[in-house]
Amino acid sequence: MNRDSLYIGGRWVPASSGETIAVENPATEETLAHVPAGSAEDVDRAVAAARAAFDDWAATPMAERGAVLGKLHEALSARAGEIARTVGLELGAPLKVAKAVQAGLPLTVLRGYADLAAQPVEEETAGHSLIVREPVGVVGAITPWNYPLHQVVAKVAAALAAGCTVVLKPSELTPLVAYLLLDAADEAGLPAGVLNLVPGTGPVVGAAIAAHPDVDMVSFTGSTATGRAVSHAAADRIARVALELGGKSANVILEDADVTKAVKVGVGNAFLNSGQTCTAWTRMLVHRSHYDAAVELAASAAEAYRTGDPFDESTRLGPLVSAAQRDRVRGFIDRADARLVTGNAPVPDKGYFVPATVFADVDPDSELAQEEIFGPVLSIIPFDDDDHAVRIANNSRYGLAGGVWGSPERALAVGRRMRTGAVDLNGAAFNPVAPFGGYKQSGFGRELGVHGLTEFQQTKAIQR
Ligand code: NAD
Repeated sequence: MNRDSLYIGGRWVPASSGETIAVENPATEETLAHVPAGSAEDVDRAVAAARAAFDDWAATPMAERGAVLGKLHEALSARAGEIARTVGLELGAPLKVAKAVQAGLPLTVLRGYADLAAQPVEEETAGHSLIVREPVGVVGAITPWNYPLHQVVAKVAAALAAGCTVVLKPSELTPLVAYLLLDAADEAGLPAGVLNLVPGTGPVVGAAIAAHPDVDMVSFTGSTATGRAVSHAAADRIARVALELGGKSANVILEDADVTKAVKVGVGNAFLNSGQTCTAWTRMLVHRSHYDAAVELAASAAEAYRTGDPFDESTRLGPLVSAAQRDRVRGFIDRADARLVTGNAPVPDKGYFVPATVFADVDPDSELAQEEIFGPVLSIIPFDDDDHAVRIANNSRYGLAGGVWGSPERALAVGRRMRTGAVDLNGAAFNPVAPFGGYKQSGFGRELGVHGLTEFQQTKAIQR
């Protein structure tokens, strides 16, 4: 699985230094592959290639860009099995999640942007002005490891559809699946320089992209701390930034909810991808009348989450992505000042596993309820009435997602009051064309669907 090149200007090229990054399999702790460690010089080359390609790509009619994305979708779809296997190996995602979400979702999103770009665009006017939308320019895309292809595609597909050109830096923990996208781009015949790949570390390649004078926009997904650093770097030249950051989402189970279903779906949401999901409902807020029942239901649902080999069909919880992540999560568990309901199931000796863990009677102001843990740890908190639930739900510096369970009208009323970029009522399914993004320190900017496309556009008024 070793890769020894960067993709710049439509060609596989060597990196400027011979240094490499070892990619680890978190389920076995063995080195899986090496990729080049890019440098600031490599970023310069990639940005120059993206700049050179920009004028022609921006001038290509949107429908033609959509047709190119359609070819990319075809080439990437042919790799669906390889994508799932690669994410299973470099992230440790259990096979079922790897196939359905890690491979399936980015393919859906890419197809969606190919189709969206193919649709005729209606001309917008305001009085005697014609309002046109133009691509922002060269985009630097910096992505994390937890949904390593989806997060790449959510940016790349929208930016390319909008007419931007892209320099991509995937997470150094999971760079291999991004290579599959570039393999597909090469096969699909994307014009040279439109999409470039520079793998490497955050402080070197990521920082060079964020600070590059010729990068017009930085689209970043990752932690709030890194998002802040990226924002500072881009602010020096007033470059546009989109930030998709962390979360600490609440799942609110109201007095008139179907509690059994709400807890079952809520636990599944919290533990999806071993809890390494930015939108995970990690705080379960339960009306006091259902509290004891909900705690019991959550404990037995959590106990059904078997850890183990991600490639074993019966495994529901894979490892965490790295030793550092495992130790960080264990630190939160060790420091927790709440009632441990479950969390002592045995885990394999090798690999960065943490068992499904549930705490009850969690203080809404405590570290457990305030910090993004990014592991399979659920906190359960009681509330007295709807107002109290809303106060606890909004008592967070994050505002990314959430759930509400109850009669449709009441759930909607509570959902409207939640200060988050998204709310799912009664387990409504994820919508890949709905705008996705945060309030507060979960970031700003929106991905997916039409909103995700306009994120990569400038607006111009032409008076006539
Ligand atoms: P991270 O912030 O450590 O890294 C994200 C990316 O930024 C990586 O590619 C990394 O190499 C790069 N980076 C690191 N330092 C940098 C610097 N100084 N300048 C520029 N780039 C730099 O985050 P992570 O650990 O990879 O991912 C987990 C985090 O991502 C969690 O907080 C999670 O909530 C968040 N996340 C958010 C969303 C969302 O859409 N809101 C989605 C997924 C993950």
